[in-house]
Amino acid sequence: MFDCMIIGGGPAGLTAALYAARGGLSTVVLERGMPGGQMGTTHLVENYPGFEEGVEGPDLAMRMMAQAEHFGAQVRYSDVTALRLEGKTKTATLLDESVVQARCAILALGASPRKLGIEGEERLRGAGVSYCATCDGAFFRDKNVAVIGGGDTAVGDALYLARFAAHVHIVHRRDAFRASHILVERMRENKKITVNTPYVPVDIQGTEVVTGVTLRQAQGEETQLLACDGIFIAVGNDPQTALVKEQVALDARGYIITDAAMQTSLEGVFAAGDACQTSLRQIVTAAADGAKAAASAVEWLMVR
Ligand code: NAP
Repeated sequence: MFDCMIIGGGPAGLTAALYAARGGLSTVVLERGMPGGQMGTTHLVENYPGFEEGVEGPDLAMRMMAQAEHFGAQVRYSDVTALRLEGKTKTATLLDESVVQARCAILALGASPRKLGIEGEERLRGAGVSYCATCDGAFFRDKNVAVIGGGDTAVGDALYLARFAAHVHIVHRRDAFRASHILVERMRENKKITVNTPYVPVDIQGTEVVTGVTLRQAQGEETQLLACDGIFIAVGNDPQTALVKEQVALDARGYIITDAAMQTSLEGVFAAGDACQTSLRQIVTAAADGAKAAASAVEWLMVR
């Protein structure tokens, strides 16, 4: 039995672990993959304070984990298949059917890449369709790739891929980009990147591997084929809250509702990071949420 169980090992979960462990709680982080969550698949993080030249996402993830472990937090690698959050003891069931129990829980469940839902996307996943430029970009050295989306992830991915791909096409459904001004400027200045707006992808072409993507003008019916070897889809994220949807209050889009101290609708259950209803989803805000959630957990356990 732990004092505190943290589900998710992204910046929110790892920072919560650091604060919980330093707050004297026996703490376990349950993480199904590599630590870091989406941060772990970000090539360069330029807006996390303290790194004037930026830091690679996986590097920052390993540092956050090492810091939490240094203060006594344990990290256990497994998929959590079920969570029982009501009552005095919070229980997580792991893939091998073993259980982890704790007196309180911090949900740092993160978010996962949104799908376009078009023909070819699922069929050619891993055969040219990818949701992670950092993971798969190297397969496309000297090849032509398309990136779909207009946010920080899409523009950051386009810049990253332009380092080794022959050419990068970014496809966005509006002329204005949601991504930070500095990234958009860099993208527009990069001769290896062609900006295709306003277009929406209609289907992904290819039998064995991706050969292109059909684009339709956002306001019209006209379509054209954009030939490419790889397609990186970066059209936002959805909260990974399926495990807890019957147990804590969620908003209409599935994000966890918390108060300012990161307390959810259920006693002894706190939440942090991208899975929460919030106005900004960045590494720094996820880390701040994690700190607040753990501080609340420490305080909550003190009077029990
Ligand atoms: P995002 O900001 O939600 O952007 C998603 C993009 O995909 C938008 O441009 C959106 O178009 C487009 N889109 C959504 N659904 C689409 C569809 N069905 N078809 C075509 N296009 C579609 O997602 P994100 O870029 O992954 O970023 C998520 C969060 O992480 C943001 O808060 C972002 O700032 C943060 N982030 C930060 C950094 C960094 O600062 N280093 C890096 C990566 C991510 P519209 O613009 O028309 O809605």
